[in-house]
Order: sequence, then structure tokens, then C-alpha cells
Amino acid sequence: MTELNDLPLRDSLRGKAPYGAPQLHVPVALNVNENTHEISEPILVDIISRLALALKDINRYPDREFTSLRNSLANYLGHGLTESQIWAANGSNEILQQLFMAFGGPGRKALSFTPTYSMYSIIASSTDTQYVEVGRGDRYEINEGLVVEAIKTHQPHITIICSPNNPTGTPVSLEVIKAAYEATSGILVVDEAYAEFSLNDDSALSLLEGRERLLISRTMSKAFAFAGARVGYLAADSAVCDAMRLVRLPYHLSALTQAAAEAALAHSSEMLRTVEDIREQRDRLYVSLQDLGLDPYRSDANFILVGGIEDPDGMWKALLDQGILVRNVGIPNTLRITAGTEAETSAVIAAITELVSAK
Ligand SMILES: *Cc1c(COP(=O)(O)O)cnc(C)c1O
Repeated sequence: MTELNDLPLRDSLRGKAPYGAPQLHVPVALNVNENTHEISEPILVDIISRLALALKDINRYPDREFTSLRNSLANYLGHGLTESQIWAANGSNEILQQLFMAFGGPGRKALSFTPTYSMYSIIASSTDTQYVEVGRGDRYEINEGLVVEAIKTHQPHITIICSPNNPTGTPVSLEVIKAAYEATSGILVVDEAYAEFSLNDDSALSLLEGRERLLISRTMSKAFAFAGARVGYLAADSAVCDAMRLVRLPYHLSALTQAAAEAALAHSSEMLRTVEDIREQRDRLYVSLQDLGLDPYRSDANFILVGGIEDPDGMWKALLDQGILVRNVGIPNTLRITAGTEAETSAVIAAITELVSAK
């Protein structure tokens, strides 16, 4: 047995910590923004039958171009997109990693607006890309002025804007995306992992036409209730997909992943039927927490960042004692809570109400 630091590890990885949201088995898991609703039986049966078909050819490598899946994703997204403008990978994390391999790397710089998704800095460090963090404004909002100034100052090769932003829930207007695009000569990645939860018609997909350096990252892990299947995807100019081909591993999407994703997409309207209920639970959570004197931030996603918590560690542990897992993302006086089913949301509201009134 040896220690990590005794190994001849790359210098830039020394002292780094891996991504590590705790994976605990509890009755109410509201910590990683999954869709907590189960997939219905008939859809599961259809997915299984397509997996069975894929298994018949499992002795062969899968379609390296996953053309059929790219077609299904283009149809799902609409906006006149075609399969040549779609790329997919094992989760949008792998999409981001491939983007950093293609457009980042040693001597290159990435920029994002913090607090934001923790994987950006981890992927920057694993690809030896310099990562610049610019703080968000009041209530974690970002506006054109802040974004344009940051881009002009730092001249990044990759700018990432998460919309709605994780972990704050903050939506970003299309005006901000347009201004960011104008300000940079690098690529602009809009991470829309939570786009389906937004009621506003504010997807940056509508801006793709004529903007060949604009990349929109999506995932089936959140609204689609498909986190375990690991399917993320990208919509961009077809030249961007050619860039991804330079860095992807051959056959990176298994035949089983392709089959499962296509089956799920064939049922997209049923798969997304829970989204409206989740929005309702999110809004109920917001109002209840506000009524308790806490300070929830506005959210267009399926979670809420809650401020005004005196002792977040204490509350995190007290909730866990009751079988409820939420997330402490390290922002002082806050916890992040996923909007789950009605029953799960009621459970977390009741538990927090009791903790707050016990004070
Ligand atoms: C959850 C999340 C992802 C999704 O990652 P997958 O690898 O697709 O599961 C991407 N971006 C953000 C901001 C997220 O919160």
C-alpha cells in the first residue's frame, strides 16, 4: 500500500480532491438534482426490449458515429437542428471533458462565473487548462456588463455559462449570452443541464444559427430521469462535432447506452411528464422556506439554494438523521435542496420546519 503523493503523479494533480458528493442510501435523497420519479413500467419494458435487440449484436463494436441517436436528439431539440450538429457522450461531464481536450489544454484559459458547477474546475485541472473564476453579482445574478468585462479582461479560450446555474438556480437571459458571444473570440459553452425545468423560453438553442463558436450542452440526467444511463449531448455547428471526433475515444458510447437513450427519447413526452410537478414542488419549497424566515434564491431549475441557515453543517446532519440527504456545496449559510416528489418535498419541509422552530 502506498499514498497518492508517493506516486509519480502529474504535478498539476498534486493536492487535488476528486468530485465527491456523498452517495448515501437514504429514504429521501435530494442531494444531486436527479429526477426522483421512477420511470413508468411500459417505458421500462420498451427500453428493455431495445436493449435485448442491441445485445444480439454485442459481439460487434457499436456505431462509432451513433447516427441514429444523433437523429433522435436533433428531433427532440427541434430548432431546425440536424444530426450533423449534435454530439453525445457518457454524460455531459464527458462532453465538457472532450470540449476541454479540444479547445483547452496547456497554455489555454477557461472562464466561468462562480459559484457554479464544481466539475468545470476539476475538468480544467485534469486537462491542464488554466481556470479563471469571476464572482457573480448580487443574489448570484449575472448581467451583460459583468460578463463582458470578465471576458475582455481575461480573454479566455473557453467561457462557460451555466443556465440555469448550478448550485444557485439562477436563470441567465439570452441578452447575456448574446453579449458574451460578441465579447469573445473563443468558444462559449452554455450548460443547459436544467433547461427543461425553465418556464421561460430562454434556451440558447435559438441563438445557434450564425454563431459557430456557440456550444450548448444538455443532459438526460436531470429532467429525463436517466442519470444512471450516462447520456449527455451537445448542439453546435457541425465543425464543433468534428473537433470532438479528434479527441473522443473510438466507440465511446456503448451499444447499450445508444439503445437505452433512443428508447427513452422515443417516449420523450411521457418521460418529461413529471417536470411540471417538479416545478410545482420547487415553488412550494421556495414559499415554505421563505415563510420560515430562510432566504431561498430564485431558481429556474429543479433545486433551490437556501440561504439564511445559521449552521448548515448542523442542519445537514440533523436532516440526514431523519433519512433526508441534501447538499452542502460550501457556500456559507446555505444548503442546496432538490425538488423531489410531493411526498419527498413534504418530508423535507416538515423536517426543516421542526429544526427551525426548535431554535
Ligand atoms: C448535473 C449536471 C450536469 C450533468 O452531468 P451528467 O454528466 O450529464 O450527468 C451538467 N452540468 C451541470 C451544471 C449539472 O448540474
